[in-house]
Amino acid sequence: MTRPMRALTARQLDVLKRIADGQSWAQIGTDLGITLGGVGSINKQILLKLGAASSAHAVHLAHLAGVLRRERHGDHAGFAAHVRRGEDPWACTQGCPEGERAYRAERRQHRKEAA
Ligand SMILES: [Zn+2]
Repeated sequence: MTRPMRALTARQLDVLKRIADGQSWAQIGTDLGITLGGVGSINKQILLKLGAASSAHAVHLAHLAGVLRRERHGDHAGFAAHVRRGEDPWACTQGCPEGERAYRAERRQHRKEAA
């Protein structure tokens, strides 16, 4: 069985993950500092590489391959996934430590409000 996700660049994978998370192209463009047309062009590259008919199809194929879930990054879930795999999450260069810090800050804030 082929592993099409491997052919995606880090940028393409990032955009696909954001699409899978329900972000609009406008949100993605704002977050990544690229134009709407830029997001559309990256999306087109993703569809071509995966042989997908639509973004929904691309997300489905990526999920079947198990790659989206396994390589999730940049938030608490991504951080926890590193821990589960026995990796050092603080060594991640894709934003997991920042996501974990934000998560812990949010928890601290909630505790403060509850006290
Ligand atoms: Zn990570």
